[in-house]
Amino acid sequence: MSLEISPFLRSFRASGLSRTAGLRLPSAGMPERLRGRAFWALLILLLLSFCGVSAATLIDLRQDAWMQATNGARSLGAALSQEIRRTLRTYDAALMRVGTSLSDPTVKRLDPSTRQIALFEGTFVDAFLAGVFVTDASGNIIWDRDREPSRLPNLADKSFFKAQRDAADVGLFMSEPFMREDNGADHVVALSRRVRTEDGSFNGVVVGLVRLDAFVRILHGSLLAPGDSINLFTREGVLVARVPDKPDAIGRDMSHTVNVAKFMQAESGVFTGVSAMDGVSRIYSFVHMSDVPIILDVGLAEKNVYASWNRRALTIGLVLVLLSGLTLCLAVLIRREFRRRLETERVLRHSEEQYRLLADHSTDLIIRLDADLARRYVSPAAMPMLGYTPDEMIGQLSRSLIHPDDWTEVQRIAANARQSDKGTETAYRLRTKAGDYVWVEGRYSYVPADGGFIVVLRNISKRRQVEEKLAAAHAELTGLANTDSLTGLANRRRFDEQLKSLCSTPGRPPFSLLMMDIDRFKLFNDRYGHPSGDRCLRQVAEAIRAALPGGEALAARIGGEELAVLLPGCDLIEAQRTAERICRAVEALAIAHEGNLPNGGVVTISIGCAERSESCDLFQQVTGEADQMLYEAKRSGRNRACSRLTLAQSDEIDVSQTEALRQEAIERFRALRLGSGSVELDALTARLAKLLQAPIGFISLYASEVEIVGRYNISLATTSRDTSFCRLTVQSAEPIVVPDLKADPRFEQNPFVTCEEGSRFYAAAPLIDPHTGVSIGAISVCDAKPRYAFGAEERTLLTTFAHVVMHGLD
Ligand code: GH3
Ligand code: MG
Ligand code: MG
Repeated sequence: MSLEISPFLRSFRASGLSRTAGLRLPSAGMPERLRGRAFWALLILLLLSFCGVSAATLIDLRQDAWMQATNGARSLGAALSQEIRRTLRTYDAALMRVGTSLSDPTVKRLDPSTRQIALFEGTFVDAFLAGVFVTDASGNIIWDRDREPSRLPNLADKSFFKAQRDAADVGLFMSEPFMREDNGADHVVALSRRVRTEDGSFNGVVVGLVRLDAFVRILHGSLLAPGDSINLFTREGVLVARVPDKPDAIGRDMSHTVNVAKFMQAESGVFTGVSAMDGVSRIYSFVHMSDVPIILDVGLAEKNVYASWNRRALTIGLVLVLLSGLTLCLAVLIRREFRRRLETERVLRHSEEQYRLLADHSTDLIIRLDADLARRYVSPAAMPMLGYTPDEMIGQLSRSLIHPDDWTEVQRIAANARQSDKGTETAYRLRTKAGDYVWVEGRYSYVPADGGFIVVLRNISKRRQVEEKLAAAHAELTGLANTDSLTGLANRRRFDEQLKSLCSTPGRPPFSLLMMDIDRFKLFNDRYGHPSGDRCLRQVAEAIRAALPGGEALAARIGGEELAVLLPGCDLIEAQRTAERICRAVEALAIAHEGNLPNGGVVTISIGCAERSESCDLFQQVTGEADQMLYEAKRSGRNRACSRLTLAQSDEIDVSQTEALRQEAIERFRALRLGSGSVELDALTARLAKLLQAPIGFISLYASEVEIVGRYNISLATTSRDTSFCRLTVQSAEPIVVPDLKADPRFEQNPFVTCEEGSRFYAAAPLIDPHTGVSIGAISVCDAKPRYAFGAEERTLLTTFAHVVMHGLD
């Protein structure tokens, strides 16, 4: 499955996807740029709101500070006014008592010194009332509380005199401050009251000099902070007293300054202004005293008034800056996070769209199963693959369409998928809407979030068909590869495999082996031709097949005209029986074979049997014994089956028929080839010995004893059959080669080998009579040394010379 499904899986998880209404993430209604602007506008609005609220609070607080300050100043001003009025009223009362005493007839009648005492009796109020005078209507001092009046100047030019003289209703008048002329140390103000005649006209004034210390003392009673001030002015704007002290300003006319001008314009008021005297900015609260010609102002230094507010404003400002900074940082972070999420959403949406496109257009069928294996999503490929619309499949259990025989396998891979984080896959059948089944390859991937699965199905029906065809072709090929084309039996390869497999199977199952060879088949070919030989082979193969006991028996052609049968589960007795049945079946074919006259002139077969046993267990051991038994069958006359069982019984092998044929053939050979002596045969022997570089060569006839009829470097004329080398050769249709006679157990006791300068090497070809197929003797070479390099060419040479011996050079 080429589709990478894990992101797909995630999008499924995120969405709880359903087939028809796939996930559509809410698209942002507003463009991102506009949303960014709105965000920042809102943020600025929020910050401005913070600042606004803070500013309003601060303004309120400042207003409160102002109110508190002005209220305090007013209260202080009222208290001070009261005290000053009380003090002045005390002095006024003293002056009025003097006026009353002046017109008192009793006092008038007193002598001057006593009258002086009586007049000023009530004027010793305190030390601040520094002098008391009485003037006549012209301003001359007529009475002085402390001195002789004649020594005092005329006061007619003084303001306090003129004010009383010029207006009858002045009441108590207070002058501007001045220095006492008689005592230059004191700053004083003069208080005056009109003295009237009996008819009420002007008759002079009573004057009291009040030291300004009296006011300063009162003002000093107030607790002032550094920078605050309290001033007393006359209504004309002349400074009377001040706290803190400013001696050089006392008596100065300050009506031209901004602040004092404001004091003079209204009866009372509050304002903020900068002092002309010390340049300090203050909140001034002033009031005109009602019955005394004095303006009192209390000035609170702005820095004191707003000191607490300033601290608070600083704190709030700092907190505001900090909060704004934090808000800004948070906003930036939120904005960044927001953008990141938007980007993630965009990527997710894009990815989801891509995977949806893939799912919708994939020819693979994609199914989402929940934990109960019910379908929650089915891709549109369901229609072409199964004939169902996705809606028809959603909600059903996945088992509903799975072939009952495949359900266990599907359950198994689903369980495996649960264990592993990789998907697992298997092939199974799904029922289509039409009712038939399609083969699919299903890949199951587990979704741990909900215990369900993503299943991707691919239609593999076509692939399956191809695979089945391939398997059939492969089986056919294998069959061909294991079959012999001529006979239709198993071939050598198949036979060897089967034999090895039986030998290596644990538990040592019993089996038997038959090795077969058609008798004198070379002569059959020579006589009837190779195609007839092939036909004969096919007939023999068919006869063998028919004679087999069935079951697992395997017949094979393992060489030219050599055949074999494997009989699994068969013991030697059964094998022997089967072999004999085969012999009879081949003989019963009655295929004419004149070269096989000793066996009735028909095609026969010889068979060697062996079984697997304790002593004969290995592959080579079993085939070796079967070969040996085949040799024994050939040796003992052919057309028979030999085994260890028959060997024991057939010590007396009936060879008389073969021997009779052999002797007849020898006689014919003598008549034909030895009539004119043995020169030609000697020449042939010498020629062969030289070609094979052998020191000795001879041609022997297997008569009642072995007779040497052709010789090279050998003087021997006859020898007994038992000691002759050709005793072996005449049993065989092929050349015999013994590389080392001393090492071969068949010759180790032979006197020609054991004698001094005995032979070590022997090679010979049988002399086969063309009429009967019987060997009449052999053409042989010997060497005193063993020879191992004796190959096919040398064997062919031997066979060719044997043929020449029998047929002549034609
Ligand atoms: P013996 O009884 O001792 O076996 O004598 P034989 O002549 O059969 O000797 P051998 O088994 O050595 O002979 C084998 C002959 O089988 C040689 C060859 O002419 C013949 N042959 C081998 N393969 C085929 C084949 O495929 N078709 C035919 N027509 N003949 C074959
Ligand atoms: Mg053979
Ligand atoms: Mg043969």
